[in-house]
Formats: sequence, C-alpha cells, structure tokens
Amino acid sequence: MSYPLPDTVRALQAKVRKFVDEVAIPRELEAEANPEAGREFRAEAKAFATANGLMAMTLPKELGGGGLSFLEQAVVNEQGGRATNGQGWCYTSPPRFLVEVASPHQMKTWVKPLIDNTRGYAYAITEEGAGSDVDAIEATATTKGNGYVLNGLKWHATGGASGDFFIFQAKFADGPHQGEHALFFVDKATDGVTLVRTPDYMHTHSVHPIFDFKDVFVPAENLIDPEIDAMKWTHEWFRYERLMIAARCCGAAARLIDEATAFAKQRIVYGKPIAEYQAIQFMLADSMTELWASRLMTYQTAEAMDRGADVKVVHAQCSMAKLYASEMAGRVADRAVQIFGGRGYMSENVANRFYREVRVDRIWEGTSEIQRIIIAQGLFKRGQEVLAG
Ligand SMILES: Cc1cc2nc3c(=O)[nH]c(=O)nc-3n(C[C@H](O)[C@H](O)[C@H](O)COP(=O)(O)OP(=O)(O)OC[C@H]3O[C@@H](n4cnc5c(N)ncnc54)[C@H](O)[C@@H]3O)c2cc1C
Repeated sequence: MSYPLPDTVRALQAKVRKFVDEVAIPRELEAEANPEAGREFRAEAKAFATANGLMAMTLPKELGGGGLSFLEQAVVNEQGGRATNGQGWCYTSPPRFLVEVASPHQMKTWVKPLIDNTRGYAYAITEEGAGSDVDAIEATATTKGNGYVLNGLKWHATGGASGDFFIFQAKFADGPHQGEHALFFVDKATDGVTLVRTPDYMHTHSVHPIFDFKDVFVPAENLIDPEIDAMKWTHEWFRYERLMIAARCCGAAARLIDEATAFAKQRIVYGKPIAEYQAIQFMLADSMTELWASRLMTYQTAEAMDRGADVKVVHAQCSMAKLYASEMAGRVADRAVQIFGGRGYMSENVANRFYREVRVDRIWEGTSEIQRIIIAQGLFKRGQEVLAG
C-alpha cells in the first residue's frame, strides 16, 4: 500500500473490495449472458450501499446521504470499477449541487427521493447535434403563464429507462436570461415526454435511451436555481464524473493486471510460463506503471477537491486524471487481451469484457479530445506550475 490513505479510507476500501470480490465479480458471467438480469442484480448492490452509507454518497449525512469526501468516493468508485458488467456499481451518487440549490418543494419532490432511492433520474444534456459542444444544444425553455414549455430531443439518457424524472438542460428562448442555459426537473410521466428508442451499445450494463420532449409544460417551480446560468452546475457535475471515471478506470486496470499476471504465471508455452518472457513482462510493467500514475493523479485531485482548491485548477486536473486514466485503461485492457491470447477474445474472459467496457470512458463526460482542449486552455491561462507543480 504505497499511497498514504487515512485508516478510515483504507477500511472503506477494504469493505467495498470485499463486496466486489465476493458478490459482484462472481455475477459477471451471468450478467454477460443476460444483461437484463445483470441490471436487476444491482438491487443487491443497493442493499449493500444502504447498509454501508454508500447510498447518495455525494450528499450530506444530515439529509440521509453518505457524506463521503471526494477521496472516499474515488476509492469506492475504484473498487466498483474492478468488476465488469456494472456489477460493482454498489452506490448512488446524485449531483451534489442539487442540495445547494433545490427549493423546499424540489427537495421534497425530487432530491430527497433520490437520496432515499425511491426515485431515479437521467441528466439529459446531449442532443443529436450537441455533445462535445454543449453550448450548441437546441433544447428550449419558453415562458408560458407561470411556467415553461420545454422542447428538445435528448440522446444517451443514462438512467432514463429505470428512472422516473430528468434533469433537463435547455436554453431560455425568451425573457431576461434568453440564450442562457437552464436546468429543469421534468417528470417522465409529464405530457409530451416520449421514449423514442433504446439503442444497443458496446456495453450492456446500462441503457441510454433517446427521449423526445415536445411542448412539455412544467411549472416555474421545476426550474433549478433560476439565478444562475446552469452551465456552472453542469461543469461541476462534469468535474465530479470525470474524476470518478478516472477512479473506475484505475479499478479496471488493477483487476486486469491481477488477472493477466495470474494467467501469465501459469500458462505454459514453449515449455515455460509466459510470465518468463520479457515481451509479456514489458506489457505488465507498462500497465503497472501507468496504473500507479493514474491512481496518484486521481487520489491527489480528489484530495485537492476535499481541501477546496481553486476550482479552475481542479477543473483541468479532473480532465488530466480522466484523460490519462481512461486512455491507460484502454491500453491495459488491450495488453491483457494480448496476454490471454485467444482466450482474451472470448466474452467469458474478463479482458474481453473490459476491452469493450472501458472504451466509453474515453467518450462520455467529454471525449479525450475535449479533455485535451480543457487542459491546454488551463496551461495557457495558468501555467504548468499551477496545474502540476
Ligand atoms: C454510453 C453513453 C452514455 C452517455 N450518457 C449521457 C447522459 O446520461 N447524459 C448526457 O447528456 N449525455 C450522455 N452521453 C453523451 C456523451 O457525453 C457524448 O457522447 C460525448 O460528450 C461526446 O459527444 P458526441 O457523441 O456528440 O460526439 P461529438 O461531439 O460529435 O464528437 C465527435 C468526435 O469529434 C471530436 N471533437 C469534437 N470537437 C472537437 C474539437 N474541438 N477538437 C477535436 N476533436 C473534436 C470528439 O472528440 C469526437 O471524437 C453518453 C454517451 C455514451 C456513449
């Protein structure tokens, strides 16, 4: 254990790791064969989360959340990332900003039920023509009486199938904030909200449907934080998600290194274990080195967030952690497939599954190219000493 994690964080890490090893990993193959059942298994993970303070772990304890620090959440995500097929997703993590800005009505109707896990949601930002460029969204909010009429077609709405409401991002079409971003709570059952289709993806642990919002009326009380351009909150959510993606990628890489190492030690080719061939050793050594670098970046960024470091600096550091860890996980998965040889190409092999599943980590919550743009902008504005000194 080379990183100086506090004892309490080590204890949390051990607890989640035990759950992942004993409950989540043994279910991977069944989840691979039957994705729907795999998604249902997560009910058991929720029981574990409830018993161990991992439900709504982003939110304060006083409100029923887990009240975990960013470092603790990174550690939990890392352990969860060690299982394929989403079986390690033994926690919930609603956006933290909600409790800062939600009105009493919004707390009661959407946020508290999220904490209690009686309601679920999708954060609907992306559209057919607007992914990397969030500012290009065409969804609109037009004032009507004491409320708004929402229109927009939202893609990749993770959580939208099982959840029953959306955090819907649009731009004001009129009024004093015309052209600014806004977030609304929208119940899925509201007139005008329809499921367009549920495409298949490279992974099967979750689905990401397309939803149409056509002339959906919501009262003004559904508008989240009316005073502020909502990109502030979406950026906060991106920072959090990017860091947690980095953490899960570390978990995936750690598992892959363990599995590939164990295999290399026992697989005999040309009369000796392949672990004795330098070509194999080099792949494992590179993987190990890159994992350590990714983990240091992830933990340090989480600690900086816990210390309340300058948000602009942290913004670039979350991008660096996500960029490096997600690209690292892709390389490690690719090497693991190679080390397993033909077995690595079989779906029953962990390397095959991670090879497919970590691919999205270079895309969602901002592609690798977008992370590089953010990092370069941070470098130009603040300099390398500030970002990495
Ligand atoms: C499984 C999955 C789940 C998702 N869940 C959600 C969700 O819950 N809610 C949500 O709102 N969205 C979600 N997304 C959307 C995701 O965030 C976007 O797919 C992502 O931000 C990229 O947007 P895009 O797909 O439109 O790609 P595009 O923006 O069309 O980009 C296409 C390519 O162009 C590159 N590119 C774009 N601009 C530049 C540039 N300036 N310089 C260099 N290269 C550039 C990109 O890096 C990419 O390689 C999800 C996506 C996936 C795959």
